[in-house]
Order: sequence, then structure tokens, then C-alpha cells
Amino acid sequence: MDEHEVASQVLAAVDNAAYRNSATRISSVHLAIGGRRVLDLNRLQSAFAVAARGTVAEGAQLSVKVLPVRHRCRNCGNNFEASPADCPCPACGHPHTEMIGGEELQLLDMELADVA
Ligand SMILES: [Zn+2]
Repeated sequence: MDEHEVASQVLAAVDNAAYRNSATRISSVHLAIGGRRVLDLNRLQSAFAVAARGTVAEGAQLSVKVLPVRHRCRNCGNNFEASPADCPCPACGHPHTEMIGGEELQLLDMELADVA
């Protein structure tokens, strides 16, 4: 999924939420993205700005929180946060750990500029 796809997915969610809240304008959007997604945040900002034209979110500020990637150790079951690359367990040193997160895409919050 590239920046444009993420931006349009976010906009669809924002649009939906705005409709449910009878909002006509959104002033800011807070997003959480898993650290395993390889996204350029600047490109995401501009893709969002372009995609938001003519929608309730036109001109809205997009703030993005990058979530840590979580791994689970296959040996001791320890869960830890680490870089997206495969890495050893900090508890037991076992080299084989599996990623258990990092692909999230969540709309955390948004501010309504105008409630009809
Ligand atoms: Zn371990």
C-alpha cells in the first residue's frame, strides 16, 4: 500500500466519521501507522492534502504517530519492541523472533471544525 492508497483509505474513514457526527469541516486528523509500513510521511501529507480537496477534510492538518514494531520470541515468548528487521530476543538472545505488529493503520482522533 503506498501513500496515495493510505491517504484515500484515511479519507474514507474520516468522511464516514464526519457524516456520522454531522460535521461539515474537519480541522485535524490524527493517525497511527505501524512502523512496519514503509511510508514517506511527507509524501503521505501531500497525498492526503491532494485527496482531501473538495471533501470535509480539505485543509485539515494530518498528524501521524508511528507505532513501534512488536516482536515475539519463539523461544521464551517475550514480547518486545524492535526495528522492522529480524532481530534477537533481548531476554534470552534467541535469534528467531516473529513480528506480531507494525502494520496498523488507525484513525486515532479527529477534530471537527464545524458541527451542523
Ligand atoms: Zn526470548
